[in-house]
Amino acid sequence: MQHRITVLGAGYTGAVAAGRLAKRLRHEDVAITLVNAEPDFVERVRMHQLAVGQDLKPRPFSEMFAGTGVELRLARVTGVDVDRKTVAVTDANGSEELSYDTLVYALGSGWNAQGVPGAAEHTFEIASRPGALRLRERLARLDAGQTVVVVGGGLTGLEAATEIAEARPDLDVALAVRGGLGDWLSPKGRTHLRKVFGKLGITVYEHAAVTGVDADHVATADGKTIPAAVTVWTTGFVVHPIAKATALEVTGTGQIVVDETMRSVSHPDVYAIGDAAYAMGSGDKPLRMSCASGVPMAWQAADAIAARLVGGKLPDTSLRYFNQCISLGRKEGLIQYVTADDRAVQAVLTGRLAAVYKELVCKGAAWGVANPTLGLPTRRRVTRERAAAGPAVKALG
Ligand SMILES: Cc1cc2nc3c(=O)[nH]c(=O)nc-3n(C[C@H](O)[C@H](O)[C@H](O)COP(=O)(O)OP(=O)(O)OC[C@H]3O[C@@H](n4cnc5c(N)ncnc54)[C@H](O)[C@@H]3O)c2cc1C
Repeated sequence: MQHRITVLGAGYTGAVAAGRLAKRLRHEDVAITLVNAEPDFVERVRMHQLAVGQDLKPRPFSEMFAGTGVELRLARVTGVDVDRKTVAVTDANGSEELSYDTLVYALGSGWNAQGVPGAAEHTFEIASRPGALRLRERLARLDAGQTVVVVGGGLTGLEAATEIAEARPDLDVALAVRGGLGDWLSPKGRTHLRKVFGKLGITVYEHAAVTGVDADHVATADGKTIPAAVTVWTTGFVVHPIAKATALEVTGTGQIVVDETMRSVSHPDVYAIGDAAYAMGSGDKPLRMSCASGVPMAWQAADAIAARLVGGKLPDTSLRYFNQCISLGRKEGLIQYVTADDRAVQAVLTGRLAAVYKELVCKGAAWGVANPTLGLPTRRRVTRERAAAGPAVKALG
């Protein structure tokens, strides 16, 4: 009689969606199962910090979801059958199939070697905790004067290069970017970035598209080689192939195409959120893979599922951007204010204040996972199915 909601992935978005659904719906009416491969919450936005040796606060799901009504299932998802409404999972005890009535797909993304020869074999990634820990161990073994080349001039590349340079001033840190350094930022933002990179002694190779990687160097499109004892690859993320193997409508890169309520455009029982989803934001521009847009997507999906189950009004969460928060080591930062569709405006916040701001944003994101309705009072409502069937009667004896 319970409506079975299965949430795949307990990252920033899946964990928020599961927790929020449990706050919106009566526990006797729904069974919410959250499937995740790891037993604790991974603060993915801090993987560059983990890589340089900082220790992150442990956040076990057993504590986070205690008493919430969300049942955690520790297992690896290996497939989804959207026609039979089942999910295949494996754990130490073997394989199993879970059936669902509503599915929330939030498996996130991983690093993207982009088919560059040698990248998969010779580089380090920081999109996952195992990747960051591997880099951490390698950096700890590097001697003074050795070169670390970070490839990719997006937010993750900027954060990784500055974090490594600040933590290990004895190393020779370089950043290779395809265009100009921070070329999407405002003039003030770019100037600040150059200043911090200069202070940290980071060499920047601009207009340097990396076309190959070897154990001790990277090669660029213009025929140059940059020596590298360690290469860190941060050229964007790619979604897991599971969705692409289903009958769901996906993009060429495997993101699930969803409507404004985060519901699959091909399968109404399936919702997708976070990096795994292709959703339109302000100005009809697709939302980029980020916590900044992923968390509002999770709120929207949870509230839409609840509204449809109880027969309430569909939510209208604002899926827009306000700023890009970039840490530049622990002491410096850059908050670039943006338009609703993520274009830089003049205003920026820089320096120590920006570093503190970014730290609060990261702390706030983790707090928001444990507090999926942001501490606001909520009412658990009766589902239409239950209302139609009459009150649940407990069997006696
Ligand atoms: C170093 C770094 C810094 C970043 N900084 C920022 C930032 O400052 N601001 C910002 O907005 N974004 C930032 N991001 C991006 C942000 O982390 C992601 O966009 C966000 O984590 C996406 O959330 P998600 O829930 O979709 O996926 P994830 O957080 O990746 O969660 C996916 C979950 O699914 C689980 N999972 C995956 N596959 C399986 C499987 N087969 N079976 C079971 N479980 C599985 C994973 O273990 C994980 O728990 C950063 C990313 C990195 C790597």
